Amino acid sequence: MRGDRVSIAIPVVRRRSPMIQRVLATRIAGLRTASIPSILLAAAAAMASCAPLDDPPPGGDTESFRAQREALVGAIAASGVRDSATLAAMRSVPRHEFVRPQDRRLAYDDQALPIPEGQTISQPSVVAIMTEALRPSPGMKVLEIGTGSGYQAAVLAAIGCRVHTIEIVRVLADSARTRLTRLGYGNVVVRHGDGYLGWPELAPFDAIVLTAAPETMPQALVQQLAAGGRLVAPVGAEHDVQSLVLLEKDATGRVTTRHLLPVRFVPMRGGPH
Ligand code: SAH
Repeated sequence: MRGDRVSIAIPVVRRRSPMIQRVLATRIAGLRTASIPSILLAAAAAMASCAPLDDPPPGGDTESFRAQREALVGAIAASGVRDSATLAAMRSVPRHEFVRPQDRRLAYDDQALPIPEGQTISQPSVVAIMTEALRPSPGMKVLEIGTGSGYQAAVLAAIGCRVHTIEIVRVLADSARTRLTRLGYGNVVVRHGDGYLGWPELAPFDAIVLTAAPETMPQALVQQLAAGGRLVAPVGAEHDVQSLVLLEKDATGRVTTRHLLPVRFVPMRGGPH
C-alpha cells in the first residue's frame, strides 16, 4: 500500500516545473527528517504540561516578522502557488502568534511545528497548497476539521470566508478560540467535538478542509459538501505517507477525486476508530 500511495502522487509532482519538484522533494524529505525532533519536542511539551505553553501575552507584529513572512510567501509563490487571495492572506496572518513562544523564531521557516497536546501546526507551503485548492473567496462557507492552533482557520478568515472549525481536544479548541478573537478574526466559529461526522446542522458547506488524516474519506463530510464544492483532505494510515486528495462535487452531485501530493499529517481521531 505504501508504494501505491507514493506512486499515485509522484506523477502529479512530475507534471510540475523542475523548481517545484525540488521544493516538493525538500518538503517531503523535511517531513521525514523532521519527525524525530518533533517527537522529542512533543514529549518535552507533554512533560511540561503544567507550564502555560499557549496564549502568551500578545507579542505583536514586528518589522522582522513581517520581512520573514514576506520572504516565506515569496518562496511559496515561486514554488507554484498562484492564487492571489491565498498569498495575500498568508502575507497578513502572523504565524508567530500561533506557535509556542519558544518556537517563534522558527515561525516563518517552511516547516510544521509542535503545538500543545502532541499536535502540530501544518507546514506553511502545505497550508498554501490546500487553501488554493479550495478556491476560496469572500463569503464562502467553509468547514475545517482539526482547528489545532487556528492558523489554517485564520488564513481562510483573512480571505473573508465564513469559517466553522471543529477541534477534538478541548484545550486546543479553547485556546484557538481565544487567540482568533484576540487577533480579530471575527468570522470563525470554533467548536469542541469530533469532526468525523462533520457539522450536519450547518451543512451544506462550499468547501471543507481536513487538517488531520482519516484512513479513508469520511462519507458524512462528502455528503455535507455543497454541489460545486471542493474538499481537501490528507487520507491514509498513521505513520505512512498519506495522499493529499482534492474531491470535487459537480452541480449534479457527481463526485471526482484527484491526488495532489504525498503528505504527512497527524491522524484523525474519533470517528469509527
Ligand atoms: N489546522 C491546524 C492543524 C492542526 S493539526 C493548524 O493550522 O494549526 C490537526 C488537529 O486535528 C489536531 O489539533 C487534532 O487534535 C485535531 N483532530 C484530530 N482528529 C479530530 C477529529 N476527529 N475532529 C476534530 N479535530 C480532530
